Amino acid sequence: MAPRFLFITGGVVSSLGKGLAASTIGTLLKSRGFKVRLRKLDPYLNIDPGTMSPHEHGEVFVTDDGAETDLDLGHYERFTDQPAARGDNVTAGQLYLDILNRERQGDFGGKTVQVIPHVTDAIKASVTNNLVDEDFVVCEIGGTVGDIESLPFLEAIRQFSNQSPARCMFIHVTLVPQLRTTKEIKTKPTQHSVKELLSAGIQPAILLCRGEDPLADSAREKISLFCNIPMARVISAPDIDIIYEAPAIYHQGGLDDEILSYFGIKNAPAPDLRAWQKVVDIMRHPEDEVVIGVVGKYLDNLDSYKSLDEALTHGGIANHVRIKRRWIDAQKLCEDNGERLLDALDGVLVPGGFGERGAQGKTRAITWARTQRVPCFGICFGMQLAVIETARQLAGLTHANSDEFGESESAIVGYLSSWVKNGRKITRKQNAQIGGTMRLGSYPATLDKNSRVFDIYGTETINERHRHRYEINLRYIDDLARAGMQVTGRSPDGQLPEIVERPDHPWFIGVQFHPELKSRPLAPHPLFISFIAAAIEHRRLV
Ligand code: GLN
Repeated sequence: MAPRFLFITGGVVSSLGKGLAASTIGTLLKSRGFKVRLRKLDPYLNIDPGTMSPHEHGEVFVTDDGAETDLDLGHYERFTDQPAARGDNVTAGQLYLDILNRERQGDFGGKTVQVIPHVTDAIKASVTNNLVDEDFVVCEIGGTVGDIESLPFLEAIRQFSNQSPARCMFIHVTLVPQLRTTKEIKTKPTQHSVKELLSAGIQPAILLCRGEDPLADSAREKISLFCNIPMARVISAPDIDIIYEAPAIYHQGGLDDEILSYFGIKNAPAPDLRAWQKVVDIMRHPEDEVVIGVVGKYLDNLDSYKSLDEALTHGGIANHVRIKRRWIDAQKLCEDNGERLLDALDGVLVPGGFGERGAQGKTRAITWARTQRVPCFGICFGMQLAVIETARQLAGLTHANSDEFGESESAIVGYLSSWVKNGRKITRKQNAQIGGTMRLGSYPATLDKNSRVFDIYGTETINERHRHRYEINLRYIDDLARAGMQVTGRSPDGQLPEIVERPDHPWFIGVQFHPELKSRPLAPHPLFISFIAAAIEHRRLV
């Protein structure tokens, strides 16, 4: 069937969970037999979130094809298990950059270049760009209705729907607050937000009403009346403690049925949500609990570790345990008695990161896990620090360092200016522009048959996603081997170490890539399953 377009907007306040709503819609439609594609249109002017601070913007989610995207694409992938691609996250900055470059080349033939039609045309093109055979394209519009930046986007989707009204639908996610003192439900902010949309020429077909509790029918009725939307399409979206319950809750609220009835689609099979139900049951009634310390430095915004946090949950689901996270500020580990923060951990995870601040504390945590024989998982920066730790403490390379901390004689972690991908040489300059200078996206790696990671993956070739500038220098691998650290995964040409492990340790693995980006609730990542299993084992032994 020709694709239908669902545009998801947000009103009243930001952070309402539009991404979760879009993901859930995608999940429900997919489980009813439709092909879906999820996209995010962001009104900000950055080209991508790659250069934005994790403190401010949270995680940068990397796609297989190497795009640095908004973390909502992580939700999309986890829920729909549909790999996202570069074109699925568009920013106003990207569109403007392209338009202005074309303007300089004289592509507009002397015309005045304007928001309408040039920017709005570019937005519309990004909605349909590179579609294959999707039945539904779910397009989340970033920001909040009423923001100045959102205006061209609202105008573009209005025009889009005007050109093919029968194939478009607007879903508005809004807040219906409850006053704490009187317990009254307030529908006015929603009414105003819908008015704001109407003033942009958009009548929402469905309202998803966010609130702490399920919305009473009387409130739904009132909203229905004032906002000109049938009551069945004013859907309650209460807070939930387990996000993976969202598909079941939205389905009960009638969301997918209303979408299909809006488009006149009949006879679609009911969604099979049993696997999701199982996930929720395990999370609600775990058999045990393990405590995992995550040693990081972006702790004021835990969205910086969104995929990692989810992947830990998935590892827990596979092992039927709840993961208690202890978020440990790396810098605090360097204070007097800092190691107390590591007491009674069942596993230590050192995630990705950038810059020297916090590196010392992370290294300290790695030394602790290595010597205490506590499972230790180093991801990207965490792997680089694990290598530096072994080099300094056990291989006699006391000055071992990373180029990231200033150029050094013994850069065991160094800047690489060229490598080979799919038989093609890729080069980069160290002094290139800061945006987009990393090794990004999916790369294959070959595993040693005689290794723990081979047992974990059960296959010799893996594909994992990368986002880093520095690499372990092959020159030192014999020193590392003598110090008990083996390189057990490499790029197919053998040039780039991708995985290290310590065979003498219960579970000590470092990976240059980000396995958390490919973990799903219904398909937890093997490394996280194995790490959590090792943490359970450790807990049983102590
Ligand atoms: N800062 C390190 C690098 O650029 C690691 C990056 C990361 O952990 N994602 O290589």
